[in-house]
Order: sequence, then C-alpha cells, then structure tokens
Amino acid sequence: MNKDNKDFLFVHNKHRKWILILSIIVLLPNIYLAFYDSDIGGSSSWKIAIYLIASIFLFILPSLFLKARNFFIVQGIFVILAPFEIAHIYLNRMPATMAFLLSIIDTEWNESTEMLSSLRLPILFLLLVWAFYFYVVFKKIRNRYFIRSKKIRAYISAFYIVFVLTGYSYYFTKMYPQNTHTVDTFKAANEEVLLKFQKIYPYDLIIRVYQVYDTKNSIKDGCEKIKSFRFGAEKKETVAEREVYVFVIGETGRYNSYALNGYERNTSPLLSKTPDLISYSDCFSEANITTSSLSILLTRASAVDYKRSYIEKSFVDAFQEAGFSTYWIANQSANNNFVQRIAEDATGEYFTTLSLSDENYDEKLWSFLEEVLKKDEKKVFIVLHTLGSHFRYNFRYPGEFEVFQPCLEGAFDYNLISPKNKQQFINSYDNSILYTDYFLANTIQKIDSLNAVSTLIYMADHGENLFDTDDNIIFHGGGKYTEYDFHVPLFIWTSGKYKSQYPQKAENMLHNKDKKLSASAIFYSWLDIADISFPEQKLTKSIASEFLKIDSARYVVDTNLEVKRLNF
Ligand SMILES: [Zn+2]
Repeated sequence: MNKDNKDFLFVHNKHRKWILILSIIVLLPNIYLAFYDSDIGGSSSWKIAIYLIASIFLFILPSLFLKARNFFIVQGIFVILAPFEIAHIYLNRMPATMAFLLSIIDTEWNESTEMLSSLRLPILFLLLVWAFYFYVVFKKIRNRYFIRSKKIRAYISAFYIVFVLTGYSYYFTKMYPQNTHTVDTFKAANEEVLLKFQKIYPYDLIIRVYQVYDTKNSIKDGCEKIKSFRFGAEKKETVAEREVYVFVIGETGRYNSYALNGYERNTSPLLSKTPDLISYSDCFSEANITTSSLSILLTRASAVDYKRSYIEKSFVDAFQEAGFSTYWIANQSANNNFVQRIAEDATGEYFTTLSLSDENYDEKLWSFLEEVLKKDEKKVFIVLHTLGSHFRYNFRYPGEFEVFQPCLEGAFDYNLISPKNKQQFINSYDNSILYTDYFLANTIQKIDSLNAVSTLIYMADHGENLFDTDDNIIFHGGGKYTEYDFHVPLFIWTSGKYKSQYPQKAENMLHNKDKKLSASAIFYSWLDIADISFPEQKLTKSIASEFLKIDSARYVVDTNLEVKRLNF
C-alpha cells in the first residue's frame, strides 16, 4: 500500500488517537446503554455487539458531509446533552423518554426530574470533560475530511442510502396489506424504521425532541378546539335531594398493599370497617406515570386513543354542563397544563403549596373541602387530587402512622435504593397506605354526614413496584414494567340516599366489582352514576350499568406514549 492510499482512507497517525478519544467521549451514552439498558444490557452479547455497531454506523454518517473539526463540533452538542441521557439510563435503565423531556419543558415535578436534581452529578468533572473535548477539537483536529476521496465518500453515502431504502421497502411491503392508503403505509413503515433508531444516542434524543414538539403542537391546536367543545351532557331527571359526588385521585397506589384486598398486614383498618364500600378487584390504570394516566382517567381518551385527551374536555366539565358546581382541590400537579385547564374552568380551584421533599399530608385538603361543602350548593362535584404514596413515602404521613418499622428516614440518600433495603421501602410504603386509609375513611365520613345523594370514588393513577419480582424493579414508569405498575385500588362508596335514589345503579356497582376493567371506564361510569346523559354515552363502559362489558385485552401507553398490550 503506498502512502497515498494509506492517507486517503484514514487520517494521519498522530490524529488517530485524538479521533479515537473524541469518538469514545461522543459514544459514552451508547457504551453505557449497551451494558446497562433493561433490554440490551445483560442480554446476549450479540445484541450488545449489534447495538454498538449500529451506534458506530450512525455516528460516522455525518463525517461523509462534514470535515473532521466541524464533525466533532456538531457532535459536541450531543456531548453536552449526554449527561441527561446517562443519568436517565442510570436511574431508569432506559434512554431519556418523552415524558422526561416534557417534564423538563413543563418544569413539572416528576419522579425523574426530582431524582435527577437530587443526584448531584459531579458537574465539575463534566465541565472538565467538555473543556477537554473542545480543546482537542480546536487544537488537535485538522479540519479536513476523514476520507479524502470524494468518490469514495459518494460510494459510501450511496451505500447508506441503499441500506435505509432497503429498510423502508422491507417494512413498506410488510405493512402494505394492512393499510389501504400509500400514505398510511409509509407512515407505518416510517414508524418501524424510527423504532430501530430509538435507542441510539443522539438519534433517539432527536426523535424524542421531535415527538415532544409534535405533541406540544397537537396540544396547542387542541386548546382552541377544547374551548368550544361540549358533550351535550344533562341530568336525566331532576333530583330534589342534595347531590354531592367526590372523586379522589390517588397517587402511586398498589392494589395488593391494602388489607381490604387481602394483604396480610392490617393496612386498612378503617376502610375495612366502612359500610357500603366496594373494592374492585381487577381494575388497571392505562399508563404508569401520572401525567398520561390522568388524561385517560379524566377524559374519554384511552391508551389506544390517547390523543383524544388533547381535543376533548373531562367529565368534570360534563358535570358542569349538567348544572353541577365543580371543584378541583389538589395537593399536586399545579403546573400540569392539562390539570390547570380543568381546574380553571371549574367553579372553584384550590392548590396547596407543595414541596415534594417535605412533609405534605393529604389531610390539608380537608379545610378546602369543608369550605366548599359549607356553601351548601345543591349539586356539587368535587375532585380531591391527593399526593398519596408518592415517592419518599416516609414524607407522606405523620409520626403516629409509623407503624411498620424500620422505615426510610428523612430525604434519604439515593444509594439506599437497593434490593437489600427492600423491607424499609415496604414498611414506609405500607405506612403511607395506612395514612391513605385514614384519609379516605374520614373523607367518606364527612360526605356521609351531609345526608345527601352521594358517591365517592377513589382510584389511584398508577401502581408501584417494591422489588417484587426477580428483576428487582422499584418505583414505576421505568424501562421494564410489571403488573404492579398498573394494578390499582378502586374503591366506591355510596350513601344511603344514593341507594334509595338509584337502587339499580347501586346494585350494578356491587355486581360488577370483580370484572376486568381499565381506567378509561371511569369517564363513562361517573356520568352514569350521577344519572347524567350525553349523546355518546357508552353504558358498556359504565360500572353502574348492567350492560358493562369487560375488557378483552389490556392496553397501556408507556412513557414514550407508545401503545403496549399487556400480557398479564
Ligand atoms: Zn402518579
């Protein structure tokens, strides 16, 4: 091989080591993910190898069009953003998700951002890496093409194009029989191709940012539509009695952690003694993070029809249409745009001041509740959005509920998150359930004392893992999910007057308590329970109806808003 030949393919010898060092810095998230991702890492070594080869393949692509220094300057943007990706992989064993990026944009508290901020990344170290990276880029890298020959660059580019086109044609032919329109087929094929890239940094980040932008636009467009949206909801027959309906939204509630549901610990002493309380045994949420779960819980959206929540109102609005005064009383989500819109359009809204890493008990909501009830309105619908068992369980209950010990203490170190501390996590979590039991039982008593036509529904937004399975998963919304992410408590209490007003509905609710259900039934159920009709009501989705149909399969949206079918 003569000198020219050697030169035209690769850079000078002395540059090689710098290029190698820079490349490794750029590819750090990929290397980390290859070994630590919940799907790729720890699986077969060929899967790791293919992932790394694909990463390198995509990494060098821009070098066909950019000279070396420009190439590394562009890659430098992603080096600066890499810590977010690495931290997300560290905490969730998966690349940064849409939910994570949205929560950064919305400055909304969320499990991931809260953890991220408390991680205290060695920022100085990162700054040094960045400084070193850009020093090398500007001082050591000559600005010329890695591959000097234009012809060879053209050949390689052609190879990439053929490769991508082959991928598209493969999926296009595979998808064509299922889609009647070419455009639909292309969309489906495009999604499949993008799916292959979605774990490769920085392409995954670019795709996610685009998806976030797209979602934000849909929500913005939807905002206009929502303003004029109406269900056409009305009360079927006027009821002379006072009507008070209450929906308590739980946070991070596990079905299996209630004694009421068969748990061996006495975590629900008060609810177990509450008359006329029904516990539903097989109800699943359709998302495992708060934001997407709330949208499905409150609107006609479901996991398979998630975007409906961008363009339609909630059942709180439907109650208002039907002549009810509506109130949103919350211990969280003050910055969530979706919640804000509903709360603002309600008759009244109350948000407690919130510090997540501080003591903040749900009973704070009672003073607002009492204020609303004192108004003595004839037709009222109230949402109580609780903080329930949100992470840092030990901050969710006062000292007298510290029954199960030893438990977590203070704003504990993240290094404590390990299966060997499983018992402490379970104990603290169970104490938070004990407190929720106290909160719910007392709230029911307050409503009961009104002697009105009343129903109170409690349902948690999603569940929680407490190192239950062999995978040792903790929390919710991570790279892998289990049934503990979705199986939630659903309690329904009805007053004596409700039962005499709507005996058939009350009987149906009891009859349906073991049916296979999902969160999207709540919308239709609430309106049916209050005997509110609207043209598109589906009684097949109402737990108060004899026409209720069980779900044949369960679908959920994951943290990237992708639909998944559950096999449990
Ligand atoms: Zn939640």
